[in-house]
Amino acid sequence: MNNIYNSMKLFIFSLLTSTIFGRTIMLNKDLNFDSLKFDNNDNFNMPNLNLEKFKKRHSNIKYQIDEQLESHTKKFMENNEYEDIEEIEIPMIFHVIYNNGNNYQYGDINPFTINQQLIQTYVVDQLNEDYNLENEDRFETPEVWQDLMADFKINFFINKVIYINSNKESWDMYDDSMKMDKSGGSNVIDPELNLNVWIVYSPGSEGEITMGRAQFASNFKQQPELDGYVLNFYALLLSMNGYSDRTSTHEIGHWMNLRHIWGDGGCDVDDGVADTPVSDISHIECGSSEDCTYPATSSCGSPDMFMNYMSYGNEQYMFTKGQMLRARAVFAEGGPRHSMVTRKKSTKKCHHDDTFYIIIVVLTIYIKISIERNVSY
Ligand SMILES: [Zn+2]
Repeated sequence: MNNIYNSMKLFIFSLLTSTIFGRTIMLNKDLNFDSLKFDNNDNFNMPNLNLEKFKKRHSNIKYQIDEQLESHTKKFMENNEYEDIEEIEIPMIFHVIYNNGNNYQYGDINPFTINQQLIQTYVVDQLNEDYNLENEDRFETPEVWQDLMADFKINFFINKVIYINSNKESWDMYDDSMKMDKSGGSNVIDPELNLNVWIVYSPGSEGEITMGRAQFASNFKQQPELDGYVLNFYALLLSMNGYSDRTSTHEIGHWMNLRHIWGDGGCDVDDGVADTPVSDISHIECGSSEDCTYPATSSCGSPDMFMNYMSYGNEQYMFTKGQMLRARAVFAEGGPRHSMVTRKKSTKKCHHDDTFYIIIVVLTIYIKISIERNVSY
């Protein structure tokens, strides 16, 4: 009898722990400091980088309009005020994909350590500044647009960093092989609850390197296995060397359904946000052949917001309030990323489950007492 009771106890205990702690582990911020060394050399020397070579080109990615999401977003933007939006937290899972220490070495670039602390400092801290209007360079924004600058009220934190020793040395930013175990990458983890990021080495060709690529929020329901964004190791390299790289900020903008500021088209194409001026230029040449200064940089009859994170300008430091409302619509009820902000509520749902388990525990104790009585009789 004791054996049966013990197995029941174990069963109930495992049910309880899997229900309550199963979710808690996913949201645990205090993960072990983990590090990855490619060799014994921890010193990192600045490679001979020329910013002009590092163009953020991903223009062959076309935005697919999802009518349902657009209509949801439009309604959200009409019915909500910027001031009323509440803070949310987004857990991030980083998949660091490397190859026996053979990659992440390119030209003068020495091997270095991508560890959790580095990701926190050069990716997550920057994101938290940019998405909470705490970035120091925000005041570079022309005065006329400073009232439009938005605090998205979004905080990011590292849920997990995983390391994949792949047999593949370099990656094509335009396929999704890094997002699958079977092609040497790493499968997405709970994309309804986490923002997945794949850090890969992608040297590009002819000096043109794509720094990042995101899956749009509109594709989430059809292809959850591809959800998240890919971050080129070079973007990290730029940040680590004092360049103001905003690849992650830009890619997460797409992931939240923001479009490029020029709408990827001419003056008749809009980005779905009223307070960003219409433009037909990506400003990818800012800092090289194009002198980007306000208001000289104008197209479509008005000055361009080339310093917006969703532009290709080499100096980006602001989003607008309209962009904030558009982005936050994806997390609202009916939006594709609603589950990400209701995860705490779903944890609370455990209380209902708990009632069920408490009944089982009481029932078990009752049965045990009855059995013992039967035995003593
Ligand atoms: Zn983009």
